[in-house]
Amino acid sequence: MRRDDRPAVVERCGTCRANRGEFQNSGGVIYQDRLWRLEHCIEPIPVAGWLVLKPLRHVEAFADLTEEEAESFGPLVRLATRAMREVLQPAKVYVCLFSESEGFAHIHVHLIPRFAETPHELHGAGVFDLLRRAGEEQRNLGDVAAAAEVAAAVLERLQAGR
Ligand SMILES: [Zn+2]
Repeated sequence: MRRDDRPAVVERCGTCRANRGEFQNSGGVIYQDRLWRLEHCIEPIPVAGWLVLKPLRHVEAFADLTEEEAESFGPLVRLATRAMREVLQPAKVYVCLFSESEGFAHIHVHLIPRFAETPHELHGAGVFDLLRRAGEEQRNLGDVAAAAEVAAAVLERLQAGR
């Protein structure tokens, strides 16, 4: 990318736009520091409790994180997924990074609860079928009120440093 392209890239970037609060999401900002922002995934949501952790800086590869971003990533993911485990009681919490969707090359880490009752075909990478379906059908497949409650409960735990 040429240096003078950067403002335009950041202007159009879906993750930067999400970080600027340009999309509808349940529960608002769950956590933000100088480097990272944690929110519920934007609407339409695939499932309540699907969170997304994003660097505030426009960066398109994990390999390009700064030392400080890289060092803070692990502890933050641990805290966030611990809080999700307590709040949601899932069988697992997936931690996924692809950033392949058009307009969303800016890295964003999906923190996804997988419940005991989740159908087998939605286990593992199959869970992204839900995200695709929500987008195609342009409707929330999960309960947005429940999503906001999850966001609030995770925020409370993160503020308490648990
Ligand atoms: Zn960006």
